[in-house]
Amino acid sequence: MVSHELRTPLTSIMGFLDLALLCSGLLPRPLSPEAEQLLGKMETGLKRAIAQVEVEARLVEELLEVSRLELHQFELSLQRENLVTIVQETVANQQQSARTRHIELVLPPDEVVPVLADAGRIGQALTNYLTNALKYAPIDQPVWVHLEVTGRSARVSVRDQGPGLTAEQQQRVWERFYQVAAPGHHGPGRGLGLGLAIAKTIIEQHQGQVGVESAPGRGSTFWFSLPLADGSNQA
Ligand code: ADP
Repeated sequence: MVSHELRTPLTSIMGFLDLALLCSGLLPRPLSPEAEQLLGKMETGLKRAIAQVEVEARLVEELLEVSRLELHQFELSLQRENLVTIVQETVANQQQSARTRHIELVLPPDEVVPVLADAGRIGQALTNYLTNALKYAPIDQPVWVHLEVTGRSARVSVRDQGPGLTAEQQQRVWERFYQVAAPGHHGPGRGLGLGLAIAKTIIEQHQGQVGVESAPGRGSTFWFSLPLADGSNQA
């Protein structure tokens, strides 16, 4: 119910803003110079308002997600999936929305890495790692995504050349609402400090593990591992 109450007003605000922008685009032009100037200002304002509503909608989604996790109302739909496909699709989606950035994907020789997983949720965990790497690393530096198979598990890691983290920060980043209060840790786009807590819960519900390797000034590698599905050919 709360989730409905929070989402509905945002959806209608967004609808009205879009409509206002559409109507102003349909006005017969040209108008008087004063009216053109006024309209220009209004359109800029409307576009900013739309961007802000999008931020708000994303934050509300994250908050709802974290309360679902706490209430254990978070259902996984486990299927036999190819982790290679999940990783490829997630990277392609991120590359699509960050076209100027370079994401380097390194895959194992195996064409199929079978896992028992909820593909959407694993994609969400990887997306959270990737958006952080893109947010905190310098824009002219690549971000690496590796998928490796070792023994009976598969490991996905995301490496960046961002500000890095101290040992204490490496432990605390998994806590809900924790954000590092240091220069270089305020990337564009506000967050609530929930992305990594959500990723950790998702991976642990898949009987997997998460971790980070980092040092201040030396970038970070966030990783998660998942057990391979039974019946795979791995040694
Ligand atoms: P947020 O949405 O605020 O980024 P997260 O839970 O995803 O929340 O991350 C928690 C905090 O961990 C961030 O606020 C940031 O300070 C730090 N952090 C996460 N990923 C990285 C990274 N790749 N490099 C440096 N700091 C990071």
